[in-house]
Amino acid sequence: MKRWLSIFNERCPKCKTALDVSKSNALQGKVVKTCPNLHYKKEYHPALETYIEHDDMK
Ligand SMILES: [Zn+2]
Repeated sequence: MKRWLSIFNERCPKCKTALDVSKSNALQGKVVKTCPNLHYKKEYHPALETYIEHDDMK
């Protein structure tokens, strides 16, 4: 469960606000995390065991 704890405790690199977490696709288990101020977005893909990061949301 350490992986999941780390997922839910991450913060925006710019404003240090805790990221909002949503599961956009329950079947795939994909997790999307976004800064409430739209600085940063990060997607976790369990099937690929990788993150895709976006820091240019504007
Ligand atoms: Zn932010």
